[in-house]
Amino acid sequence: GEIQAPQLVDHVVDRFEMSTKNQDIQFKRRIPEDDITVAGDRDKLTQLLDNIISNAVKYSPEGGTINVSLKPEKERVVISVKDEGVGIPKENIPHVFDRFYRVDKARSRNLGGTGLGLAIAREIAAAHGGNIWVSSDWGKGTTFSFSLPYAQQEAVVNQ
Ligand code: ATP
Ligand code: MG
Repeated sequence: GEIQAPQLVDHVVDRFEMSTKNQDIQFKRRIPEDDITVAGDRDKLTQLLDNIISNAVKYSPEGGTINVSLKPEKERVVISVKDEGVGIPKENIPHVFDRFYRVDKARSRNLGGTGLGLAIAREIAAAHGGNIWVSSDWGKGTTFSFSLPYAQQEAVVNQ
């Protein structure tokens, strides 16, 4: 169906704000209030964003801020989640979307997880005609972004 992207992102961030109430983590949003529709499966897109924000929460330090932004570009909308966590070493970046891949097994074991979240996120983005990518500075933080094409507009016929 047609989904209002800003509303979907706001709902997910609202939920994480509530579930992290007792943690020292702050969310900041840059989400326009415009009509921005994408075509797809609401539950799957919610899961995509869930998987990325849950990582940002998991790898954020105490007092960390998580920035969530939605940027309408010419051909696609880009949603980004930026954290101030440990980051991902450069050599591990090409693998983070692989199934069961986890950076630093010892560190990750304490934090729990199976290493599937990002593989699922990539599958969902691809199934919607979008992309997903990451940029990270070891020790400074990580930004995961994904893009979604706009919902196809019906052609307006002038008579
Ligand atoms: P699951 O999502 O299945 O519970 P997981 O979070 O370990 O487990 P992924 O979400 O696929 O698995 O992430 C893969 C690995 O990428 C993580 O184990 C972690 O090492 C690294 N990673 C993912 N997101 C971040 C982040 N925001 N900051 C630092 N490292 C990250
Ligand atoms: Mg995860």
